This record gives sequence, C-alpha cells and structure tokens, in this order.
Amino acid sequence: MKYIDQIDIKDKRVFIRVDFNVPMDDKGNITDDTRIKAHLPTINYAIEKGAKVIVGSHLGRPKGKRSEAFSLKAAAKRLSELIKKDVLFLDDCIGEAVEKAVSQMKTSDVVLLENLRFHLGEEKNDPEFAKQLARLCDVYVDDAFAVSHRKAASNTAIVDFVDVCAAGFLLKDELAYFDKAMGNPVRPLVAIIGGAKVSDKIGVLEKLVEKVDKLIVGGGMAFTFLKALGYEIGNSICEENMLDLARGIMDKARARDVKFYLPVDCVVAEKASADAETKICTVQEIPKGWMGLDIGPASVSLFSSAIQNAKTILWNGPMGMFELDPFSRGTFAMVTYVANSHALTIIGGGDTDVAVHRAGESDKISYISTGGGAFLELLEGKPMPAIEALEASGGAK
Ligand code: AMP
Repeated sequence: MKYIDQIDIKDKRVFIRVDFNVPMDDKGNITDDTRIKAHLPTINYAIEKGAKVIVGSHLGRPKGKRSEAFSLKAAAKRLSELIKKDVLFLDDCIGEAVEKAVSQMKTSDVVLLENLRFHLGEEKNDPEFAKQLARLCDVYVDDAFAVSHRKAASNTAIVDFVDVCAAGFLLKDELAYFDKAMGNPVRPLVAIIGGAKVSDKIGVLEKLVEKVDKLIVGGGMAFTFLKALGYEIGNSICEENMLDLARGIMDKARARDVKFYLPVDCVVAEKASADAETKICTVQEIPKGWMGLDIGPASVSLFSSAIQNAKTILWNGPMGMFELDPFSRGTFAMVTYVANSHALTIIGGGDTDVAVHRAGESDKISYISTGGGAFLELLEGKPMPAIEALEASGGAK
C-alpha cells in the first residue's frame, strides 16, 4: 500500500475519502467535530503540497435520497474554520456541475462534495457511480478507516478507475496502532473487553484469547461468563445460548496460560434507571430479581492491579451501563487507571471513546480509534474490503 506522502500530488486533483459522519443536533449544528479533526493531517498535507483537494464523505443513512438533514453543508463550514481557509461546498458529488467546479479549482483549493450516500450507487459499490467519482480526480486517497469494513463505491470500486491510489495519514495511523497491539505487541499485552453482549464480540474474544497475556472481561457480557461458571446472576443480562462459547473462551485461556479476569463484585439495581436504588454486592451474592449494571470497587481494584505491569493495553466496551450515573463509576475508574498507566494504550472507538472523553482523559490515551465497527472487524480478522482494494491497487498503475 502506498501512502499520501509517497506520491506526487502537486497540482493534481486529489480526491480524499474521509469520514465526516459527525453527530448533529435538531438544528443541524455539529455537536462533536472529532471526526473532522481526525482528517486534518491528511487534508492540510494535501493543501501544503499544492494539490487541488476534493473531499468526499457520507453522513448518516439517507438511503440514496437527497435530504437536508443529511447534508454535509455544516461540515464544510466547520472544515473551513479548522483549516482557516475557504471551502467550496458543492451540492452534489457527481455530475456536470461538479466536474465543472472541480475543473476550475486552483492549487491548494479545497472543495467538499455533498453526501456520497445521496446516490444509491455509493453503498452498492456500483462501478458506474465509482467511475463518475473517479472522473473528478487524478489521485485517490482513502482516509476513512471507520468505513473500511464496508464496500462502497468511494472506497472500493473507485480504485479500479483512478491511476494513483494511496492511504491518508489517519488510515495509516489506525493500521499502525492496530499492528502495535495485535501484530507485534510489547508485552505484557492486556485486553479489556466490555459492553452489553458476548454475541457481539465473540469473534473478538476468540482472537484475543490467542494473542493476549491477560484478558479482562467486564460490562454486561461478564454475567454470561459468570453464569457459565455456575453463579446465580439474578436478572443481569445473560445470553443462555452463549454459555458454551463462554466456557470455550475460558478453557482456551487456561490452556494458553492467559490470565483471565472477571468482576468479583458489582453494582446492582432492580431496574436499569438513573433513579434506581443501588447496592454493591459480590458476584456470589446478587439478590434474586436484581441485576448487575456496573463493576464494583473490588473489581476496579482487581482489574487495576492486573493492568499495572502491562506494556500494551487494548480496550473496547464499557464496564457497565455508564450512560446512567449510578452505573458509571466502574468505567470511569478504569478510564483513569488506563489513562495513567505507563503502557501503550489503545481504545477501540465506540462507547469506550465516549467514556474516555467524558472522563476528560482522552489526551492521556496513546491512541483512540475512529472506527467502532471497523476496529472490531479488524480485531476479528475479518476482511476489510477498502484496505484490500487499496493494497491490490498497488499505489500507481
Ligand atoms: P457495546 O456496544 O457492545 O460496547 O455495548 C455498550 C453498551 O453496553 C452500553 O450502552 C452499556 O450501557 C451496555 N452495558 C454495559 N454493561 C452493562 C450491564 N451490566 N448490563 C446491561 N448493559 C450494559
């Protein structure tokens, strides 16, 4: 795979596929611009090198229909503020008017195309749609790691129609940090996995147990493991059909001498709500009718001891229902321990990213992935079509 700094982009029309899928409020204001900022190294580099910079993204799921609610107009304004430069917003991403505007671009000009998903061809990986996008550029740069696990015209089919293809700096960082965790980790390597369900992360757990030195399981999914060990877990979330798989993971851990940690205590309530009465109990004493919604202080102490000598920590999934204040302490306490550890710390996007930001500790984390789903699929070892397409393109044809 080639990277943007290995190719000549001066005076070239460079199409950069980004992920500006930012959250917005009812009035169309961007409420968090992290995803835009993540692409600034690539966009600024292309500007500095004198490219004509054409930025393309999706936003939400408009399913092939134009809609104000999914317009990238606000993203153009925010991008312009961040790069301190005019950004011309085009109200489509293909077609004559777009081609004309692009043909009038000068060196270091920046254009943001309208939502790629306003055309059905995008999500269908349609070669005809990809061909029309390709007509806009001389060079294609993929920087949108967060969608690289899904085939789209703008990240897969397009490489067949552009002579020079490369990855941007965000995609490069994502793959480099992933490699630091799963390719060639400095050990001990500790994985912390949480979240609601075992079934969502079984593939990830199967992969991790073959790689890590320690595996810590918290969150709702821990209760399936505890049940598999014979504990009474009250009304805690449990997937009965995952009990054998959970036992299988624990057997593999034992066979590989992986240190496997489950919570020893939890915060319980009769209902999952912010005003519920809560208690802390050991996992052996969960009262009938109550459910575990967070890890307790003894588990925090256990888990924090387990990560103390870690050289690499990989974390995905909260330790409890952290969106609700009474069940957030375990996750936030772990954020603090992970953030202050001396290890290389990698957070796998999604809810864990939210928790780290809410705790105000994001600056102390070595790397926070921008891809929730993509990160998990990469961890599972599933094919990543956009990355395979870039690799197959071989850079320049
Ligand atoms: P995931 O997307 O799989 O990482 O799951 C994240 C979700 O798991 C969050 O919305 C949490 O509220 C939820 N969760 C974490 N711990 C629990 C728990 N003990 N019981 C129920 N839901 C939980």
